[in-house]
Amino acid sequence: MANETIFTKIINHEIPADIRYQDDEVTVFADIAPKAKVHLLIVPNKVIPTVNDIRQDEALLIGKLVLTAQKMAKELGIAENGYRLIINCNSDGGQEVPHLHMHLLGGEKLKGLGF
Ligand code: AMP
Repeated sequence: MANETIFTKIINHEIPADIRYQDDEVTVFADIAPKAKVHLLIVPNKVIPTVNDIRQDEALLIGKLVLTAQKMAKELGIAENGYRLIINCNSDGGQEVPHLHMHLLGGEKLKGLGF
């Protein structure tokens, strides 16, 4: 497919990754360059390039990303202490991979974002 990304290859098990959860809508894997003790990426299996591209009929899928993050945080035992969910959008937001994804960061006291 034209809009395949490196994340599509991970989702399709074409390249290796530390996959922690997968169903028919969402895949969760460890970030290759972790910024915290826990750093997972929660990714819709279908390619939505950025937040700007989310359609109304994808609202449930976007909600599922948050609920999947909640589930992973509980399973990892970091829910009570807390964590951070981040979605970067385009260049000013620092988005590197044009396949919508939510970062789940935690497992330690996170530094502020500087603003
Ligand atoms: P973003 O800057 O929001 O687009 O985040 C992209 C994230 O994907 C970065 O934190 C990268 O470390 C991570 N990443 C890139 N390639 C891989 C990969 N092959 N496996 C796991 N994480 C990756």
